[in-house]
Amino acid sequence: MTLPELLAPAGSLERLKVAVLYGANAVYLSGHRFGLRSGADNFTDTEIIEGLQFAHQHDAKVFVVLNAFPHDQDLKEMPEYVIWLEQQGVDAVIVSDLGTCTLIHQHTNLPIHLSTQASCLNSWAAQAWKNLGVQRLILGREVSVQEAGWIRQKVGIAVELFIHGSMCMAYSGNCVISNYTAGRDSNRGGCVQSCRFHYDVQETNKEEAYKASFMSSKDLRGLEQLPQFLEQGIDSLKVEGRMKSNLYVATTTRVYAQGLKICANEPPPLWQSRLQELTKELERIPHRGYTEASLNTPAGQDSIYQGHRNGEQRYEIAGTVLDTSENFLTLLVQNPFTAGESLEFLTFAGDTILLNTSGLLDIQQRPLNRAKPNSLVLLPSIPQIKPLNLARRQAA
Ligand code: SF4
Repeated sequence: MTLPELLAPAGSLERLKVAVLYGANAVYLSGHRFGLRSGADNFTDTEIIEGLQFAHQHDAKVFVVLNAFPHDQDLKEMPEYVIWLEQQGVDAVIVSDLGTCTLIHQHTNLPIHLSTQASCLNSWAAQAWKNLGVQRLILGREVSVQEAGWIRQKVGIAVELFIHGSMCMAYSGNCVISNYTAGRDSNRGGCVQSCRFHYDVQETNKEEAYKASFMSSKDLRGLEQLPQFLEQGIDSLKVEGRMKSNLYVATTTRVYAQGLKICANEPPPLWQSRLQELTKELERIPHRGYTEASLNTPAGQDSIYQGHRNGEQRYEIAGTVLDTSENFLTLLVQNPFTAGESLEFLTFAGDTILLNTSGLLDIQQRPLNRAKPNSLVLLPSIPQIKPLNLARRQAA
């Protein structure tokens, strides 16, 4: 069976490494210009070079996001930038705007992936984009898996579909709420996620106003629909989240990589129960409830999230393994924990190793009672735990 590409978000150089080591076949990132997530850390030119080297050494691809909707004055530096990206060996660029697409074709041979922001939802639009030289379509989140398969087959073009992450309530980001409520242009990288806020709602003919987050969508989770993605031959499974944490990137990448392994190695009758079992891991990262959104039928009222953002079992990152030796692993502490507590280490192979921290030491090998954030601590080493593995703990 040919498995689809697993494409993970890389909001920073460290997250790129985490995504690749936890099983992503490709990552998408943005430099400081022309992307749609100005709130993400985003990559300096030097970091892009280092990220490319790291990803390519691990057989992973790097796609650079250029999906803002620029005005003429925004495009002045674009030719120089895309020529530079091509010279560095970037595998493709992600573009929404027809002008940007034309300009990239004029100056480079970079493969172009059409961003979901362009809202490509049908085979006619897909054909038009293909005629313009686009090599892959990241379809709008409004198409079902079946429609995506149909577009792919009819037009003969690679398709990428979101399988996990936050959703826009607007058509794949064609939205100006952020512009009007916060003066930040969502189509030029400034979205403040105004749709997530609670608003005072005063219904006609009712005196009482109430607070509601009536525009906030639950998060997409397509793990149980993985067999449909495979059946339809979807080329790339995209996980949303360039603004999300290392723990989110590690957890989602690891879970979907494991899901793909299940489908590749186990008999189909076992898939559903095995995938359902895996969904428990996705409950452990902060989320806004989960929905399958429009993967099967168009998203409706039940995909609106009214609650507070949390996992059922809330976990937080305890730290990142920086180094391992025969006796010790060195952990960079990110949230405090007490000696004696058990931490869960997420291995790259997919296992979760429970490690009791009663042997907690400081960097000079002196016993410690409590690990403080931003400090380095030592714990007994375990062969399966490697540098850049993350440790999580159950939050209070
Ligand atoms: S405000 Fe919400 S719906 Fe609008 S672009 Fe931002 S995330 Fe999407």
